[in-house]
Amino acid sequence: MNLHEYQGKSILESYGVTVQRGVVVDNAGDIMTKAKELQDQTGTEGIVIKAQIHAGGRGKGEVKETGSHGVVFCPSIDKLEEKVKGILGGHLVTKQTNAAGKKVNKVLLAEDVYYPGESEPSEIYMSVLLDREKERNIIMYSTEGGMDIEAVAEATPHLIFKEEVDPRVGLQGFQARKVAFNLGLSGQAFKDMVKFVFSLYKAYEGSDASMFEINPVLKTSDNRIIAVDAKVTLDDNALFRHKDYAEMRDKTEEDPMEVEAGEAGLNYVNLDGNVGCMVNGAGLAMATMDIIKLSGGNPANFLDVGGTADAERVEKAFRIILKDPNVEAILVNIFGGIVRCDRVAQGVVDAYKNMGEIPVPIIVRLQGTNAKEAKELIDASGLNVHSAVLLQEAADLVKTVLN
Ligand code: GDP
Ligand code: MN
Repeated sequence: MNLHEYQGKSILESYGVTVQRGVVVDNAGDIMTKAKELQDQTGTEGIVIKAQIHAGGRGKGEVKETGSHGVVFCPSIDKLEEKVKGILGGHLVTKQTNAAGKKVNKVLLAEDVYYPGESEPSEIYMSVLLDREKERNIIMYSTEGGMDIEAVAEATPHLIFKEEVDPRVGLQGFQARKVAFNLGLSGQAFKDMVKFVFSLYKAYEGSDASMFEINPVLKTSDNRIIAVDAKVTLDDNALFRHKDYAEMRDKTEEDPMEVEAGEAGLNYVNLDGNVGCMVNGAGLAMATMDIIKLSGGNPANFLDVGGTADAERVEKAFRIILKDPNVEAILVNIFGGIVRCDRVAQGVVDAYKNMGEIPVPIIVRLQGTNAKEAKELIDASGLNVHSAVLLQEAADLVKTVLN
């Protein structure tokens, strides 16, 4: 599950990480009161307006309706209202969104932390994430903060450092000091950074995250270390033990079909092909997607109906698959181990009848317990359903119906 910047920052704060402070606004009527609240709380004069969407690159992104950027600095409160209105409610297009952009339902008004002082503020990149190859959490960091880190990795890979954490002993003091040293920090900034790294790592572990990306971490002109941005991904499978984080879920940021499927207990991922798939088990679902490709089609989705493929679930799954206008055929591929094939076949027939007409051909391949009875049941139903027992037969049928 992805979080908004303001939510990620609230987790960071609860672990003692210093963050750029802000207030959230979701209604144009609240802009001025909220902004004054922020000014009173923090003493800031300038205010940064930051669109809250689940995509990075907001600073360079553009709001379709107004042409405003997604992160805008406002030196005083004077033109604030007008500038916020150029972002709130619009659709922000960034490098990480599609051409339609993402609707901005909330903006964060944040204190200005780039104020002038004894030294220049400087932007650092830092993230904590799981390195699957190394099977360890790593802290990735760079002096080249504030920029597109993929571009830095491409052009100047030697400027990106990685620190692996040994899970048996956890993050060690010398490692945090090494990070601060490699970033060229000294004095108060060095000390602050050591603390920052520890607290950030604790936040990552404690929240069962799979990523915390802070770009930029700012060394302020008075040598403080502050998280200016926060891109956080939490592990869905651990949300049951973080009820407060689970509530941070913003369904408006997710694919509505995936949300609906999730509510029905179906594991569904929308893809852009033309053959809908309904399968039990993730492994079989992936094999099915391969078979579809081999037969010249393209999977329209990944859908795992799980262990209980009864009529009700099958119908729900059909309805979700059919909402996708690109679907030209549906391949149902069920292995009947615990669930008997004839029961699934009955489920398919019942679901079909219940839904009236299904506008695309359906290929059903059932294998396992009572597969033969299942095939007979489908063949006798008189519906626009083709049955198969072998995977290759199913693939050939997909090819036939697509042509
Ligand atoms: P992103 O573009 O989605 O990654 O959004 P960020 O939160 O990283 O902000 C983008 C940029 O806005 C930063 O790299 C800064 O250059 C600028 N910015 C953020 N906070 C401040 C601030 O407090 N003052 C000023 N002057 N600029 C800021
Ligand atoms: Mn950023």
